[in-house]
Amino acid sequence: MIAHPIPYRGRFAPSPTGPLHFGSLVAATGSFLEARSRGGEWLLRIEDVDAPRCSAAAADDILRTLDAFGFAWDGEVVWQSRRDAAYAAALDRLRKAGRVFPCACTRRELADSAIAPDGAAIYPGTCRDGLPPGRGARAWRLRVGDARIAFDDAIQGRIESDLARDAGDFVLLRADGLHAYQLAVVVDDAEAGITDVVRGADLLTSTARQIYLQQCLGLPTPAYAHLPVAVNTAGEKLSKQTRAHALDVAQPVPDLSAALAFLGQRPPPELAAATVPELWRWAVASWRLDRVPRGPAPGPVA
Ligand code: GLU
Repeated sequence: MIAHPIPYRGRFAPSPTGPLHFGSLVAATGSFLEARSRGGEWLLRIEDVDAPRCSAAAADDILRTLDAFGFAWDGEVVWQSRRDAAYAAALDRLRKAGRVFPCACTRRELADSAIAPDGAAIYPGTCRDGLPPGRGARAWRLRVGDARIAFDDAIQGRIESDLARDAGDFVLLRADGLHAYQLAVVVDDAEAGITDVVRGADLLTSTARQIYLQQCLGLPTPAYAHLPVAVNTAGEKLSKQTRAHALDVAQPVPDLSAALAFLGQRPPPELAAATVPELWRWAVASWRLDRVPRGPAPGPVA
């Protein structure tokens, strides 16, 4: 019997905290081209689970910008803000399996904790074996125990993480009642049947946690490729806080060409005069993941 490989399914998952900027264009371009050049599907998910930081206007703006830049996604857009029941069900399974525990600690009580590479406090374990008398649950955390996670990233190479050291017991249900990004992304990727995650290397510190969570929930682990992150002249990741320039929807070709060049692809100079579909035709046919640099290319992009 001939085994049929699982068809490639990738995705782009922007958080609508502001307009799409060059950094997110790079992530969209890399994930789109890897999916299309492998004959795969490319899905779009709006990650608005962190409601206080997101806005419907920013989500609209992102959809319009992606459309103007010629990104064609497959199927319906998935909105995390409408998927609370799926996250609650996953958390419930973890509760029944004894994998999570309620935590009463306030941010102030955790202020002296060691800091993880992503800037969050490493949980000192205060409530791991039960809430202190008289205290109520604020958040729910996943026990990481002595879990060690290793994976081979298609761009960044072998990544190893000792979760107790690198993250600690991390939050799945926040004190404000919202499900955490780590839980939402794992549940959504599995439900959508994502086989390959191509995204910015700023998320590399989250990946081990997500793989561990997949294991706890009995979900498959996709393949990962983390793209270099665009930084400004001060070496900061481009974001709305670092005043990344907004993309020009009236003129996508220069920004798209810059994103391709940033990803190590080599659009021929005559494509500067190309239309958006012409540029995409060239890019899908010529895309090579092995040309993508591991870190930001020399010469910062602002
Ligand atoms: N929503 C995340 C972001 O915009 C991306 C999550 C992911 O690709 O897994 O940074």
